Amino acid sequence: MRNEPTFRDDAIAKVTSRERARFAAANPKSAALAAEAKTSLFGGVPMHWMADWPTPFPLFVAGANGARFKDIDGHDYVDFCFGDTGAMFGHSPAPVAEAIRAQATRGYTTMLPGEDAVWIGNELKRRFGLPYWQVTATATDANRYALRWARAVTGRDKILVFDGCYHGTVEETMVRLKDGKTAPRPGQLGSIGDVARTTVVVEFNDIAALQQALATHDIAAVLAEPAMTNIGMVLPIDGFHEALRELTRKTGTLLIIDETHTISTGPGGWTRAFNLDPDVFVLGKPIAGGIPCAVFGVTADVAMRMEQARSNAASDGHGHSGMGTTLSANAFAMHAMRANLAHVMTDAAYAHMIPLAERLSANLKVLFAHHRLTWSVTQIGARCEFQFCANPPRTGREAEAAFHDALEKCIHLALLNRGVMITPFHNMTLICPQTQAADVDRLVAALGDVIDEILNA
Ligand code: PMP
Repeated sequence: MRNEPTFRDDAIAKVTSRERARFAAANPKSAALAAEAKTSLFGGVPMHWMADWPTPFPLFVAGANGARFKDIDGHDYVDFCFGDTGAMFGHSPAPVAEAIRAQATRGYTTMLPGEDAVWIGNELKRRFGLPYWQVTATATDANRYALRWARAVTGRDKILVFDGCYHGTVEETMVRLKDGKTAPRPGQLGSIGDVARTTVVVEFNDIAALQQALATHDIAAVLAEPAMTNIGMVLPIDGFHEALRELTRKTGTLLIIDETHTISTGPGGWTRAFNLDPDVFVLGKPIAGGIPCAVFGVTADVAMRMEQARSNAASDGHGHSGMGTTLSANAFAMHAMRANLAHVMTDAAYAHMIPLAERLSANLKVLFAHHRLTWSVTQIGARCEFQFCANPPRTGREAEAAFHDALEKCIHLALLNRGVMITPFHNMTLICPQTQAADVDRLVAALGDVIDEILNA
């Protein structure tokens, strides 16, 4: 049998530079807008990370619909990124667009609930099983408040997260495990201080380390994705979730499950599919079809303790709980969320999305086998990812060890030049309700083409 081919650094550099030139030549209008944007926007973009693409300048979008978007120079793309999940049920889904139109002349924000709130509460309870809900503007906010409530109801200071996690820009979760200790996440700016004071980090799937950490009884909550998705995918080993639930329960630690990405699993997320039974459930990004919105749900026991904590708190007027933002649960987001839950995030949508993700996953495996590449492919419902390692990683550290930044950037850029977009970090793809089999095949063919180019450069 022939050996696995290697991706030489000089070959990657050669193809990257060719693809950068091709991108620059094909996108003169984006180039002009990017140059002008630099004169008024920090970094030339409205949010600095929008420049974190492997392109020589940002691609400017003219519009997006369903599984596709068009750039300002008139090129069409098949989207597998979907705004890193915000639009995973398709760009501008018709029922959400209709809801936005209907709400457009009825006011956006009043600091009071409307009828939608009650419908949403009932639907979230039915769908995810937890009885009491709160609505925030972002998943970051939902996680931040979930952690705050956890500290308030347990009277404990610390939280525990898994190495390589991402739960939004929540200060105390921006950590890594270094030499067995909590360390600040590299790249973080303006941190408030010693993260070891607030956070314990252990490896995902390391039940013994989890047990040891929780045995101190000073951890308010474990915040976890059901499967890690933000350092490449890491699936839980058999028995991990059972142990996590049992150990948290035994030590009086709340279990917060963040389903912001793993909602790809099915209509009730991983939680419903695998009966996770968390104390707090968090979901952001796509819940209102891409309109800023997120939710968190709590058990009856946690809700009761939240009520107690609230009545015990010294009252110095309203609105100083440390939770909430003015535009949280605004009428616009609520109406969009209602339409999205009722008509878009449906069983039928998942029944279309998941088989296509299976097709993508299977065809990627065939492609890699054809090239004699031992890259692993992992699928979580409508989400699929390939990683540059032979065995699926079991920890954040293993997932990180499979990173190959130059190769990844080269692939992403070359795919864009071939009319296909995948998530700009690792090799994550999503299928939306409008994605077609031909779109999946196009991605696999384009990736095959790029792999050939690099191996032959
Ligand atoms: N939780 C998870 C699991 C995420 O992946 C992210 C964002 N990638 C967030 C929370 C934060 O979402 P947002 O940036 O919309 O606040």
